[in-house]
Amino acid sequence: MRFPLHITTDMLKHQARQAMKGNRRYPFVMMLEPLWTCNLACIGCSPERHTGKLVDRLPVDVCLRAADDCGAPAVSICGGEPTVYPELPELIEGLIARKRHIYLCTNALLLDKRFFGKVPPHRRLTVNVHLDGMRATHDYVVDREGVFDHAIEMIKESKRRGYHTIVNTTIYKETDIDEVEELCALLTDLDIDGILLSPGYHYEKVERDIFLTRQDIETKFRRVLEFSPRFRIVSTPLFLEFAAGYRDYRCSPWSTVTFTPRGWKGPCYLIERNFTWDWDEFWNGTDWDYWESRQDERCANCKMHSGFEASVVMDLKKSPRDMVRLAAWNLT
Ligand code: SF4
Repeated sequence: MRFPLHITTDMLKHQARQAMKGNRRYPFVMMLEPLWTCNLACIGCSPERHTGKLVDRLPVDVCLRAADDCGAPAVSICGGEPTVYPELPELIEGLIARKRHIYLCTNALLLDKRFFGKVPPHRRLTVNVHLDGMRATHDYVVDREGVFDHAIEMIKESKRRGYHTIVNTTIYKETDIDEVEELCALLTDLDIDGILLSPGYHYEKVERDIFLTRQDIETKFRRVLEFSPRFRIVSTPLFLEFAAGYRDYRCSPWSTVTFTPRGWKGPCYLIERNFTWDWDEFWNGTDWDYWESRQDERCANCKMHSGFEASVVMDLKKSPRDMVRLAAWNLT
C-alpha cells in the first residue's frame, strides 16, 4: 500500500468522526515547528525558519498541548531542523502516546548522531528526508557540499534499522524534471517507502528568483505525471493532475495547521499573517472562506500539497470514479 494500512484507517476514522459532528473543516495534519534553528540555510527557505536561537524553542509540554488542541491525526515535525531539538525523543514519545502519526522532516545531517539509537523505530513514526535533486542540484539548494551523499547514506541506514522512510522533493523553477526522474529511480533502488513531490512556494522573504509560476508548475508536473506510475510516489495522482493543470480545486488551508515558536500561524503553512497562542482564536478568527477561494494575490502561483491534498480527499464524495481510482492507487 502507498500509505500503511493503520495510517489509512486512522485517517478514514478521523474523517468519519468529523462528518458525524457535522464539521466541514478540520485539521488533517499539524505542522509542528518546535524550533527555528537549523544546521543549514537552504536557498528556498524563509530565513526566519533557520536563523532562530535554540533558546527560543518551544517546550515539549507546549507542543503536546497544541497537538491536543488541534486534534490532527498526523503531526509533521519540521522547523528549523528537528534533530537539533534537544528534547526530540520526549516529544516523539508524547505524540506516540497520543496515537498520532509522526513525520520527522529532516535534512538527515544529524540522523546518525542525534536520532538513531535514541528514538527507536515505531509503526507511527516516519522519517521524511528532504532531497531536492541529485548531488549537484541538492548541494546547491542547501548551499553546502556533501549533504546529498550524507543524506543517501542516512536513508540506507534508516531503512536498515527498520524505520518507515520517505523522501520529500520540492520542485523549483530551475529543477530539471529528468533529474527528478533519475532521483526517483535511485530512491526506488534503495527501496524507499514513498516519494512526495511538490512545487516550491515563493515565500515573501526569499529574494532569489527560484520559484515557479503557475504555468511553470503545470509544465513540469505534466512530465512528472508521465513517469509517476513507475515509482512509489505518495503525492496522490489527483493532486499531480491538479499540479499539471488538468483539474482544479479550492484550497483547504485549514487541513494543515502550523504551530511555531510564535504560536499558531495563520492563515496557512506558507503565509505569515497572524500569530496567536490561542487555538480557538486561530481557528475561529481565520477567514477560511476567503483563503479557500484563492483570491489573495499570494495564492496566485500556489499549488502546494499542504493546501490541496486535503481538497482532493474532500472532493472524493462528489466523484465515485475518483474515489475508486484513489482506493486502487493506494493498494498498489
Ligand atoms: S493557495 Fe497556497 S498560499 Fe493560498 S491559502 Fe492555500 S496554501 Fe496558502
